[in-house]
Amino acid sequence: MKRYAVFGSPISHSQSPRIHAAFAQQCGIAMAYVAIEAGRDDFAAILAASGVQGANVTLPLKETAFALCTDASARARRAGAVNTLLRDGDGWRGDNTDGLGLVRDLTERHGLDLRERRVLLLGAGGAARGVAPTLLDAGIRELVVANRSPERADALADAMGDPGRVHARGWDALPALGEFDLLVNATSAARGVGLPPLPMALAGLRSAAVDLSYGEAAVPFLAWARAAGCMHAVDGLGMLVEQAAESFRLWHGVRPETDPVYAALNGQGDALVTAD
Ligand code: NAP
Repeated sequence: MKRYAVFGSPISHSQSPRIHAAFAQQCGIAMAYVAIEAGRDDFAAILAASGVQGANVTLPLKETAFALCTDASARARRAGAVNTLLRDGDGWRGDNTDGLGLVRDLTERHGLDLRERRVLLLGAGGAARGVAPTLLDAGIRELVVANRSPERADALADAMGDPGRVHARGWDALPALGEFDLLVNATSAARGVGLPPLPMALAGLRSAAVDLSYGEAAVPFLAWARAAGCMHAVDGLGMLVEQAAESFRLWHGVRPETDPVYAALNGQGDALVTAD
């Protein structure tokens, strides 16, 4: 049986094994998909010893994984980060399905129109790098990248190669940035000390906010978004399911139905099969 895995740290909370088990059952594909703990220093060795045909990569490994790929898709090269690895002879081909996952969730599941929107991207790590190119391709008007470490925001903005639309700002510039149509929290702050206070003036009654995290980790930012008056406040569960479906398609050549899996994870549908 072919073996797949998601690598990251911490990884025990990952929903990916449940999602891929449900996709595999739906599509009649026999495979195993497990979660494997790995940090930046030991990832290459753990991946090599794992015997997997393909892998997902999550926090904090997306840029590390990109660096070890022997080949990468155009969208992964633009992001400088990968979330999907496909075995390619003795090496790995990298791809990045995060951006497609986010845009599909926002436009198809939540009915948002991203064209001509002014977008604030909080964070400049692997997830932010993955979603920035796809947001630009979706036709947004402006992307402002704000990060705690300003040099990473600068690097992300430079990598997009679109200085007319993409601007990097330090966290201290937030009060002067005005209102955004879409606010994307791509930080991992909720896992640590939390985000610094965000000015309410960043959002208005027609704004939408999305936190790429889900569950407890998404609560503080989405509570802020509702308090700031946002019309939509969405967590990252839909993106998680959509990016997983695209990884699944890359590995197995078939795109699974995502709605039943999203509903089950959201507590609204039939329970998912478990991996064991
Ligand atoms: P990462 O590469 O480690 O980057 C973390 C980012 O968060 C960096 O920009 C970092 O800023 C920032 N940050 C961390 N603590 C902060 C704090 N206290 N205040 C302000 N900024 C802070 O992680 P990642 O892979 O980008 O993941 C980010 C989040 O997205 C995670 O919660 C992850 O679970 C989520 N995610 C969800 C999906 C999905 O499918 N729903 C997909 C991908 C990622 P510095 O650069 O200053 O350190």
